[in-house]
Amino acid sequence: MSVNPERLKKDFPIFSNNPDLIYLDNAATTQKPSSVIRAVSDYYATINSNVHRGVYKISEEATEMYEGSRKKVSEFIGAREPAEIVFLRNTTEAINLLSYTLGRKLKKGDEVLLTEMEHHSNLVPWYFLREAGIVIKFAKMKADFTLDYEDFQDKLNTRTVIASFTEVSNVLGTINDVRELSNMCRENSTISIVDAAQSVPHMSVDVRAIGCDFLAFSGHKMLAPAGIGVLYGRKDLLDRMHPFLGGGEMIGEVDYNGATYADVPWKFEAGTQNVEGAVGLSAAIDYLKSIGMDSVREHERSMIDHIFKIMDTIGDLRQFGPMDSGKRGGVFSFNIGDVKPFDLLNQSNTKFAISHSIHPHDLAAFLDRNNIAVRSGHHCAMPLMGRMGVSSTARVSPYIYNDERELDLFFDALSNCRKEMAR
Ligand code: PLP
Repeated sequence: MSVNPERLKKDFPIFSNNPDLIYLDNAATTQKPSSVIRAVSDYYATINSNVHRGVYKISEEATEMYEGSRKKVSEFIGAREPAEIVFLRNTTEAINLLSYTLGRKLKKGDEVLLTEMEHHSNLVPWYFLREAGIVIKFAKMKADFTLDYEDFQDKLNTRTVIASFTEVSNVLGTINDVRELSNMCRENSTISIVDAAQSVPHMSVDVRAIGCDFLAFSGHKMLAPAGIGVLYGRKDLLDRMHPFLGGGEMIGEVDYNGATYADVPWKFEAGTQNVEGAVGLSAAIDYLKSIGMDSVREHERSMIDHIFKIMDTIGDLRQFGPMDSGKRGGVFSFNIGDVKPFDLLNQSNTKFAISHSIHPHDLAAFLDRNNIAVRSGHHCAMPLMGRMGVSSTARVSPYIYNDERELDLFFDALSNCRKEMAR
């Protein structure tokens, strides 16, 4: 089934409330369909209560709903069982959990392998481990904005305990072959972690097919409410891990001498949970499944192909990402003007070599006056910006409710912006 953005748009109240809005910042967060909003509101209106605690009816129903959402997530990403799904706030919290719990076992000189195209969420939690003498390494990006797999392989060695990498770059759109990377990790007895914040919302993801040990994503980037995220982990690994946060509901027994912990996944879910978020995530998965993840992916690919077709009409537009829509997700980062050529492979390129004749923030502000929402800035990927020789870019990230007409309007506005700024 192909995606019909015009029809889907009607499912999203934000567009009837803002009829002129062209929302192209879906890599940051997505809009919410009525079915998700209704699921959350119905939950509050009918069975709102705390889960796993009450023996009364609505609490039992809420618990059932919460655990039902876990089962749905587990099936959606091909986990072996719901116990492999931990509900957290977002991708950021999931990676922090991993850096904290796995980091406890690392010794001075052990290595963590990342890539040059990571979001700060998959950098900073690992940087914390440097205080304990852990060495952080980065697999290189190639000049065509794809990952250098040979370099990744070369950097895996007997000291590499953990490797954590994004499936889709939120700046470049580059799709990394996480199956291959996980494979390399397994052969090296290295724990593999996939940052799937930009993949699970946009394409079919199957954790068993990938063969990774952990994978993280955020509900708000896939039509669900903010504040609900997922950490998938292989059950045998989760079982052996220390909890992250301590508190209510994550325990077995507590006395004045200490505590034992609950089974997974509850061992990692301390305190009152975001039940309404999980309910909303379940409704969001139903919505995405009704479209089909392959159709979502195809639609985004066609959006990028359309951008490729028109982008040359804007002189001195420089885009950052692979020029093959088969190798990239629905993310298009670019700058306009005065672009000095630079050598991506030159490792000394860590400072900003390009000056923009139109700064991305000015561009985004101009587009906003035309009701077009795009992102500008470093996209929480400052090291990658440095590698690309820029301080910031503008970014367009379409989703299921965007169509070619909106992209055409975006490019018209871009062209007007150039004319106006050149005056
Ligand atoms: N990883 C990637 C690739 C992202 O794009 C983002 C958010 O943009 C994150 C991690 C962090 O997601 P969150 O802010 O939902 O934790």
